[in-house]
This record gives sequence, structure tokens and C-alpha cells, in this order.
Amino acid sequence: NFKSVNDYYGHDIGDKVLKEIANRLNSFKNYGDDLVRYSGDEFLFISYETDFEEIKLMAQAIINKLYEPYLIKQYTFILGSSIGISQFPKNGTTFDEIKRYADIAMYESKIEKNKYTIFNEDIKNKYLEKALIEQELKYALAKNEIYMMYQPQVDINGSLYGVEALVRWENKKLGFVPPDKFIKIAEEIGLMGKLGSFVIETSLAEIKNLQNEMNIDFHLSINISVKQFMEVKFYEELIKCIEKTKFDKAKITLEITENIFINDVNYILSILNKLRKNGICISMDDFGTGYSSLSLLKKLPIDELKIDKSFVDDIIDDKNALSMVTSIITIAKNLDMVVLAEGVEKLKQKEILESYGCNLFQGYYYSKPLKIEDLKYFVESKN
Ligand code: C2E
Ligand code: CA
Ligand code: CA
Repeated sequence: NFKSVNDYYGHDIGDKVLKEIANRLNSFKNYGDDLVRYSGDEFLFISYETDFEEIKLMAQAIINKLYEPYLIKQYTFILGSSIGISQFPKNGTTFDEIKRYADIAMYESKIEKNKYTIFNEDIKNKYLEKALIEQELKYALAKNEIYMMYQPQVDINGSLYGVEALVRWENKKLGFVPPDKFIKIAEEIGLMGKLGSFVIETSLAEIKNLQNEMNIDFHLSINISVKQFMEVKFYEELIKCIEKTKFDKAKITLEITENIFINDVNYILSILNKLRKNGICISMDDFGTGYSSLSLLKKLPIDELKIDKSFVDDIIDDKNALSMVTSIITIAKNLDMVVLAEGVEKLKQKEILESYGCNLFQGYYYSKPLKIEDLKYFVESKN
């Protein structure tokens, strides 16, 4: 978190902190070792030590040392550090390679922070796979590799209530890539806006078509990722798209997750209220798995709470999972929300959920996600 020192206290203080870091790092140097300030707050430490046990001890000692408070003028700072380690000639024979692999290992450390990571084949493969996904994802929409599936949601009587739109990606080189994986990457590389628009446009059009053709009506739930929701044009484009397809707004549910609230709550609230005014329903997805605040939940215009599959999975044998589920249902009822349980695979799960007042159900017990053609047969069979 060096950047925040610079931002809040100025570069003068920042420079002093850097010098102190350099001093501390210098104290680890043995004969022949090199220390370089590589960029901003990145340092390269070139060690001739070949015993990996020694290297590990040193890496941990450096982390501990850098974590000691920095006393600069009247300020005290605590800084974390993340270390990546690669080895010549095991990992590469050029300086460039060694540096790049240390860098990749460092990014791995940065996920948890204050730790060191030794570069290995697993990390390399994970990195290469991610790089390939990034590459391929850029052209996936243009190459028509992305499509939608729909998973039915039913009420207590087993009648169709609606469907959840779930995005799919099948790529020649990568095969089937799970949505949670590529959505995270799409967000990182700035593709989520485009991908999100595709999801909205396609699912509205396909479901509207099916409804017209079969002359019935049911809800459509669309997952909205945090980055997508925060895009400036999100609201306008959504409304435009709904109007273009003439989809009944009261039959649209947007599924958002709790992590959305790491952003400016007032902004989110203003968009949610606008959506609500249009009659669009809001569902809180994966409820109980993320950052939740009950007082916040009370303030939000939310119509539906979705019980995450992870709770439903264990509801039969695990008392804690069951009490979690009953608590969620109680909260939802107190706040006048509808409760939908996902990941229902067994009749027994549905019966337990129903006995505590759950309203809607979704899961393999009823149906897996279906392509639009197969959804048609499912709907026919229910009619
Ligand atoms: P989610 O929103 O929690 O979606 C539910 C996931 O559980 C889906 O996985 C669904 O196929 C799976 N599922 C439903 N019922 C069962 C069941 O009975 N058993 C089992 N084993 N699984 C069940 P999927 O399609 O792989 O999606 C994973 C996640 O990716 C979703 O979790 C959602 O967070 C995200 N996602 C999927 N499609 C979209 C999308 O169009 N936009 C956004 N932003 N996220 C999406
Ligand atoms: Ca969902
Ligand atoms: Ca879930």
C-alpha cells in the first residue's frame, strides 16, 4: 500500500519511506548480492544463495523486517510486501525470463499479501491459461462463441415461475470455460460492458420470442456483475434494450451480489431506485456468502433473496447450514422479500426449504440450464 502513502502524505514522505525500505533490504545482502530499485515500489534482489531453505528463510525475514513500523517525521506507517522468487537457470536462462517469472510469482503473492511465492510450473500454467483466456475472450463475441442458457425457476407447486439466464462460452482451444472464470477476466480486461450488453440483449430477445411463440409469460432473471452495474451507461442501455424488445418490465429480475456494496452505496441506491420505479425486480444473489450488512439490506429496494447453493447443498445433514437457511428466510420475510433457493437437487431439500417458507426453487431437481430450444420443450411439458 505504498501508493496511498504517496497519495495522502506527498512524494517527499514517500521518498523517505522508499529510502528506509532500501536500507532495510540492504541489510539482507551477502557478498555479491545485488539490490535494485526496479520501479516505483518494486525492488529486485539478486541473491547467489542456491539453498532454497535459506532463500525461504530470507524471504520471510524480509517480509517481517518490512512490516516493522516506519517512523517518518511525525508519522508512523505500516507497509506490507509481496515477494516473488524465480531461479536461474532452473526457470530461465535470461535475465528477462527470470525477472518475468519472479513478477508472475509476485502477483500470486499479492492475492493474499505479505507472503512470498516461489515460481513453479503450476503458477506458470495458470498464468499461461489466463493469458490465453484473455486473448481468446477478446474475439469470443465476434466469433459467436458465447451464448445463453436458461435455468427454470418454479414455485411451490412446481409450476414455472421464471428462468435465470446463464452465459456460456465454448472455445476451440480452451473448450468450455466456466462463466465465473471468464467473467472475472472480462472484468479485469474491460470487456464486461460488452459481454454484459450481449447477455441482456440476447436473453431479452430470446425469451421474448419464446413467450410470443408460446403465448405465455414468465420471469427472466439476469445476472449483473459489479463492474457492469457500475458502468455509466448501464441503466440507460438496459432500459433502451427492454423497450426495444417490448419485454414486460415487471417480469424482469436483476440479480446482484453483496460485493456490489464495496462501491458507493448512494450511487447504487439511486440506480436501484430508478430500476424499481420501472417495475424491475432486484434479487440479492448468493446471499450470506459475501459482505452483508443487515442494516444496509433494510435500506435497499430488494424484492428477492436468493439462498446460495452452498447452503442448500448441506441442508439435509448439517445443522449449521439449516439454521443459516432458516435465518435467511426469516430475514427475507421480515423485510417483505420473496425467497428463492438455488441448487436444489433433491426432493428432500425442497421439502425442508418449503417447510420454512421458501417461495421459489431452482436446481437440477427441476432442470439443468437449458438451451433456448430445450427450454421450449420444458415449458411445453409444464403447460
Ligand atoms: P450463480 O448466479 O450463483 O448461478 C447459479 C449456478 O449454479 C449456475 O452455474 C448454475 O448452472 C448452477 N446450478 C444451478 N442449479 C444447480 C444444481 O442443482 N446443482 C449444481 N451442481 N449446480 C447448479 P453457472 O452457470 O456455472 O454459473 C456460475 C456463476 O457464473 C453464476 O453463479 C454467476 O455468478 C456467474 N454467471 C453466469 N452467467 C452469468 C451472466 O450472464 N452474467 C454474470 N454477470 N454472471 C454470470
Ligand atoms: Ca445468479
Ligand atoms: Ca450461487
